Amino acid sequence: MTGAEQLSAALLEVEDSIVWDFETGLATATGLQRQAEELGDDMLVARARLCRANLLMRTGDIAAAARQVYEIHDWATTHGDRRLRSRTHLACANVERLFGDLAKNLEHTLSAVELLDETATPFMQVWHRTKLADALAITGAMDAARPRYRQAEELARELGMPQRLAILLNNWAYAEYAADEFPRAQEVAARLQEHAAAHGIDLDPTALDTIGAIQIGNGQYAEAEQTMLKCIELHHAGQCDAADDLADYFLTLARAQRGMGATDRAQTSLDASRELCVERELHEVLVRVHQEQAELHGARGEFTEAFEMYKVFHAAHESLRARQREAQAQTRQAMFETAEAREEAERFREQARRDPLTGLRNRRYVNEELPALIAADPNLTVAIVDLDFFKRINDELSHDVGDRVLVQVAKLLETELAAVAPDGFVARLGGEEFLLVLPATPVPAATDRLDDIRRTVRAYGWREITGTLPVTISIGVAGVHEAPDLSQPALLSTADRNLYIAKRTGRDRVVSAQAREARKRTYRDLDAA
Ligand code: GH3
Ligand code: MG
Ligand code: MG
Repeated sequence: MTGAEQLSAALLEVEDSIVWDFETGLATATGLQRQAEELGDDMLVARARLCRANLLMRTGDIAAAARQVYEIHDWATTHGDRRLRSRTHLACANVERLFGDLAKNLEHTLSAVELLDETATPFMQVWHRTKLADALAITGAMDAARPRYRQAEELARELGMPQRLAILLNNWAYAEYAADEFPRAQEVAARLQEHAAAHGIDLDPTALDTIGAIQIGNGQYAEAEQTMLKCIELHHAGQCDAADDLADYFLTLARAQRGMGATDRAQTSLDASRELCVERELHEVLVRVHQEQAELHGARGEFTEAFEMYKVFHAAHESLRARQREAQAQTRQAMFETAEAREEAERFREQARRDPLTGLRNRRYVNEELPALIAADPNLTVAIVDLDFFKRINDELSHDVGDRVLVQVAKLLETELAAVAPDGFVARLGGEEFLLVLPATPVPAATDRLDDIRRTVRAYGWREITGTLPVTISIGVAGVHEAPDLSQPALLSTADRNLYIAKRTGRDRVVSAQAREARKRTYRDLDAA
């Protein structure tokens, strides 16, 4: 196995599992990402980053995790395979669900399932379908959710994934319960219990809490109390330290006990839940504790207290919902603000490197990019272009016409250069002076190309802009080998010298080292003059 194959297999293990221990999971994913970066394999890096983002989403900084998820998703959309795209869609769905956007959650989950093909892992086949069923269920579409749960269940049985099936049945049972479909919930919960017993799977406290709630819904209070006592016992014994759930379990226990008419035991359980809520600031559970307290007062015939408590519940419920909405909006905004700021900065950077009149690159861009090109390319040629008698156009016509000429010349230079040196660029150095950069084009070849460009400019239909005044350009050329120190100033000043010669020898011409050789006499004459 190559390093990349080994890494891919290690990643697959993280991708196809639900890691309960965040710290270890995060450390593993971070290590894998580093290895992927060292290998320089973008696909593996993306996969490792997605694992990390998925874990981050469960630990806290949702905005940061969400941003990463969408970044990876964007990358995967153009570069990823079906498998990665399916996984990023599922991660986006998670983000949207946390943001409270159930429609987007459903949309992404649908894509995550649509992208499943024979390359998808068994885990994905089952899990993505389960998530689709969950997404349908929370939008209230239980009728559409049920066939998906069933399909996922069949797949999980076929593929021999008992643990996955237990989670699936738990989700399904909970969805039926949340939709007030108690008999159906009961039926699924029974299958969950059977399945767990048959495969020696210990149902975790979360599953027992679901089962207890379903039993309450069906009026089986005594069974529910037993289930919840078992649930709490398991929680205490368990290695799982998601202590926040305990408040929930005590609340379910209290509801079971109230149902049985054991109001004292119910009050004790409810007090235990309330204490945990206050201690751990579990606002969401506390609201339901208030609600249960009102019910409990009612069950004891304490109607004044029940009414007062109901008002407390109602107010707490409203403020909780407002706070949740605000938190979701803030997270969303935090996510987009950063994305927007980055785009804004990029736009600004780009603008600062362009000439506003012609839209060409400017001197700043040249200073940033040219030195590296000079250092890397021994066949790089540059040319400085200057308009001939441009002052006359300004003076005899107008500055405005002058501008239009500059814009048109810029266009011509850009199209012509793109045709002969697609990797090169044109910049406006200032005034009526332009720089042409031709990578991988030695001076003799470049001189021919540039002479064509010069001719094209002269032949352009200027009449519409300048009437009878012609527009021509002079060009000074220099190759990298003519700048012995490989410096940008040396190269540009050689080109500038040649431009000067072009002007002195009649304009509307290209002057390079070769051309200069050929004209040595004229050159000397000029210098003497
Ligand atoms: P030569 O052939 O020797 O280059 O003659 P020239 O008239 O082109 O030379 P000169 O450098 O004297 O004139 C350049 C003129 O370009 C002077 C300046 O007013 C004009 N100019 C510089 N920038 C702009 C601009 O953005 N718009 C317009 N319309 N004119 C500009
Ligand atoms: Mg000029
Ligand atoms: Mg000039």
